[in-house]
Amino acid sequence: MSKMPVLFIGHGSPMNAIEDNSFTQSWKEMVKKVPIPKAILVVSAHWYVKGTRILADEKPKMTYDMYGFPKDLYQVSYDAPGAVETAKRVQKLLGNTVQVDNSWGYDHGNWVVLHKMYPNCDIPVTQLSVDQTLSAKGHFLLGQKLKPLRDEGVLILASGDVVHNLQRVNWDSTSGYDWAETFDHQIRDEILAGRYENVINYEAFGKAAQCSVPTPDHYYPLLYMIGAADADDNVTVYNDACVMGSLSMTSYMLG
Ligand code: ZN
Repeated sequence: MSKMPVLFIGHGSPMNAIEDNSFTQSWKEMVKKVPIPKAILVVSAHWYVKGTRILADEKPKMTYDMYGFPKDLYQVSYDAPGAVETAKRVQKLLGNTVQVDNSWGYDHGNWVVLHKMYPNCDIPVTQLSVDQTLSAKGHFLLGQKLKPLRDEGVLILASGDVVHNLQRVNWDSTSGYDWAETFDHQIRDEILAGRYENVINYEAFGKAAQCSVPTPDHYYPLLYMIGAADADDNVTVYNDACVMGSLSMTSYMLG
């Protein structure tokens, strides 16, 4: 079985689920570089709760955790079966503090991306929450524990945004504020150089980091990707851009 890469996808606006644009086209290009997975583990920024939880449902529900968008978006359905066996494996790798929770289902951190990347819904999916009580380093360490999945045909797909400040979103802007571009580039350069300590200690980037990561829910999934990285992984950057002033679409493949 060929070793799986590990991905971080900047999912941006939920509208990417139903729009066809350069970002969503790039997600489809990424898939062509990935061996067909046995299962997909999505680490979703939108399941930001106390504790680490895992979805282990045969037929997960859809969660439309966004407000005020066009009706079409609430009709997107992602019907991939749940990856129950993989969920059990994840629980074993991460330890007993990880609880099964099927009450949340596939949220839009998950289905916005998979609806584009794996539209046939033929690969089982499980989803991991992001524990809001854990430090950045703690998330990185969980990512390290997930690393064996890469040899077992499981695609680890972390979904968030390196820059995510909803208070500052400007729907009409097609680029980022200076601080957003600065922080996005700083993190990209650290990842390209393999300086993961600096990605974990992102707060050291000061004001640009504070504005870009006002709350860490969308940043923490990135730490699962670098946690599951191997020293000999190549880094490929996709969608290297900020949009709407304060969202980053920048995505990565390590492998
Ligand atoms: Zn989001």
